[in-house]
Amino acid sequence: MKTIGMLGGMSWESTVSYYSAINQGVKERLGGLNSAKICLHSVNFDPIEKLQHQGKWSETAQLLTEAAMSVQAGGADFLLICTNTMHKVAAEIEAHIDIPILHIADATAQQLIKDGVSRVGLLGTRFTMEQDFYRGRLRDNFAIDVLIPDAEQRDIVHQVIYQELCLGKINSDSRQQYLTVIEDLQRRGAQAVILGCTEIALLVQQAHTAVPLYDTTRIHAEQAVQFALSED
Ligand code: GLU
Repeated sequence: MKTIGMLGGMSWESTVSYYSAINQGVKERLGGLNSAKICLHSVNFDPIEKLQHQGKWSETAQLLTEAAMSVQAGGADFLLICTNTMHKVAAEIEAHIDIPILHIADATAQQLIKDGVSRVGLLGTRFTMEQDFYRGRLRDNFAIDVLIPDAEQRDIVHQVIYQELCLGKINSDSRQQYLTVIEDLQRRGAQAVILGCTEIALLVQQAHTAVPLYDTTRIHAEQAVQFALSED
C-alpha cells in the first residue's frame, strides 16, 4: 500500500472528512484492521486565508510548498492538496517536489465524464468559481462546460464557506440558499453540480436535492484510495 500525503487544514473541518473517507475506503476494500497509510501536514489556515483575500498567492504557494516538502520527507508516495481553492498554486508546489499530485479537478472531471456529464454547475469559493485555474482545466483538458452562479449568489456561496463552514457552523438557512443556487444552475442547463469546495458537503448532501451532486472531497479521497492500493 502506498502512503498518501495530505496537505490539510484548509480548513481542518474538511480534512476530517478526507481522513475519514480515506480510511473508510481502505477498510471497505481490505477489511479487518486495515487502515490507510497517511502522512498529513495540517497548516494553520488563518494566515493562508488572509493571504488569499489579499491576493498574495505566491506567498501561499511558498507556505504550501514547504508543507508539501515535509510531507514528501515524511515518506508520502503522492500528494493530495485537500482544498479546491489552493489548486490555484498546484503547479508551483509540484515544481518543488518529486512525488505526483493527484489533482482534485482531474479526479472530478474523470467521474463526470464516466457519468456522461458535459455541462456542469460549479460551487466553491469566489476564487474557484471565477478564476480560470479550475474552470479552465475542466474546459480545456476535459471539454466540460462549466456554469457558475450570478455575482450575488457567488457572494453568498463564498461568505458561507469562510464565515460558517470553515468554522464548523452548519446553518439551515444557508443550506436553503445553496439549494436555490443549485436549482438555478440546473434551470440554466447544468446536468449536475460540482461541490467544488471541500466543506460544502458538510452543509448540502445528495438527500437534499434531486440535482446530481459531485462532492469533490469524496471523489478526491476515493481516487487516493484507488491509487494507494493499485500496483502502479
Ligand atoms: N476548502 C475550500 C476549498 O475546497 C476552501 C478553503 C480554502 O480556501 O482553501 O476550496
